Amino acid sequence: MSDDFARFGLLKGYANLPDRFYARVKPTPVRRPNLIQFNRTLALQLNLNISALEELGLAAVFSGNTLIGSDSIAMAYAGHQFGHFVPQLGDGRAILLGEAQDREGIRREIQLKGSGRTPYSRNGDGRAALGPVLREYLLSEAMYALGVPGTRALAAVTTGEWVAREAMVPGAIFTRVALSHVRVGSFQFFAARADQEGIKLLADYVINRHYPELKATERPYLELLRVVGERQASLIARWMHMGFIHGVMNTDNMTLSGETIDFGPCAFLDSYDPATVYSSIDSGGRYSYENQPHAAQWNLARLAETLLPLISSGSDSDSNSNSNSDKAVNLATSVIEKFPSQFEAYWLAGMRVKLGLVSHEAEDLQLARDLLIAMHHGQADFTRTFRRLCDVAGAVPGGRADTFLAEEATASVRTLFSDRSRFDDWLERWRIRLERELPDTQQGRAVLMRAANPAFIPRNHRVERVIRAALEHEDFQPFEELLTVLSSPYTDQAGFEDYSLPPRPEERVLQTFCGT
Ligand code: AMP
Ligand code: MG
Repeated sequence: MSDDFARFGLLKGYANLPDRFYARVKPTPVRRPNLIQFNRTLALQLNLNISALEELGLAAVFSGNTLIGSDSIAMAYAGHQFGHFVPQLGDGRAILLGEAQDREGIRREIQLKGSGRTPYSRNGDGRAALGPVLREYLLSEAMYALGVPGTRALAAVTTGEWVAREAMVPGAIFTRVALSHVRVGSFQFFAARADQEGIKLLADYVINRHYPELKATERPYLELLRVVGERQASLIARWMHMGFIHGVMNTDNMTLSGETIDFGPCAFLDSYDPATVYSSIDSGGRYSYENQPHAAQWNLARLAETLLPLISSGSDSDSNSNSNSDKAVNLATSVIEKFPSQFEAYWLAGMRVKLGLVSHEAEDLQLARDLLIAMHHGQADFTRTFRRLCDVAGAVPGGRADTFLAEEATASVRTLFSDRSRFDDWLERWRIRLERELPDTQQGRAVLMRAANPAFIPRNHRVERVIRAALEHEDFQPFEELLTVLSSPYTDQAGFEDYSLPPRPEERVLQTFCGT
């Protein structure tokens, strides 16, 4: 069997960096690993040679009992947690096994989460509980299917051991795949130690790996800041379009690659309220739905601080170092200040698609914002409102369209609003706006809109329900069914309509927990 594992052929990536970037550590074996879910499609994309492995072999690999890759490490990082700087965090319960080169030639890191203690565990047990593992699996794969960049789920296993949380709960291990796990907090780790060489090595590593085109620019480290800002602006806009609330946007949870990472207490909006917070630990609402762009910009500023010495050393050599550092601050500040307008541009572009608008008019931004205001006012369900607007657009009155269909579609979206006064006004404005669209874009409008407005999101009450079935009855079938429905979020699925329904009042989930 060991030959089979050798053929996994994991590559060494981050472990090529100097020793102070990580701790060499092996997973702590678990008693009785059992495979819950394995993402075979992703394994094939990753070129992992798994065909020879039966379920037991897979459980052994994805529990860490059988080690694949000989350079497993826990990465060192720091981070601002809810605004407070912690100079040393690091992978306290995660172990990077190595990298796979996928079918497109892109290298991806494979990491176990919940695989035992590391030098960064502090008081933690290095383990993960089954509930949060199932949650992360569902949420990360749902985001992938929705087209939002993020880490992927490769496997989930139970360990046959108990872990102590609010009660004793079943232990599990999650395997995630990322372009890389480098975070803003990774840079802060070296900045906190005044380790300029470390920052440069890390910045060069990130540039080589994700943004090699920056090497040829005049100021690669300033460009790095710019491109990371751009990726984040685009990413957060995608979150907002989907009604996604990350919940813990600490600097150690913001990647340089632009991937969503750490699906802890994250959740999707049901009825629209921009101030929504689900995470039990976010009492001040720092990471509420509407605050997400601000939080990303704040994190970007923390990244900029770590890069300033590199940015200034790239300045003209004949000026003195004080003016170099002033110049670096000015350059970095101008990048950070652009974030809100970049975000808004991405947000508006995506909202136009959601609303079936191809042409650009100056009032579109206000039109999009006013829909949200009407939804807030009418406590309308975020996802359903947009999905039903697709039907309205498909039956748009005027010309030959069927007025009855249009009326029916309009009535069905109106029922989502407890107070329709603002929405009715908005609907009229939207109709008039649609009439100004080119006729040849009208045909496929509903189709295009349905490809941007999902029918299925991982609704909190559904996620909790499948986790309960797993915990209380060891029944994983509901988890698998939900995972399957979420893999085609933009397609109406006959027989699964219930999965698109918002919670009934008694089903509403008001708080989510990271469960660490
Ligand atoms: P997170 O909330 O998952 O972003 O984690 C924040 C920090 O706490 C990271 O350094 C984690 O590695 C660490 N951590 C979270 N849970 C555990 C645990 N069960 N054991 C050890 N460290 C943990
Ligand atoms: Mg984290």
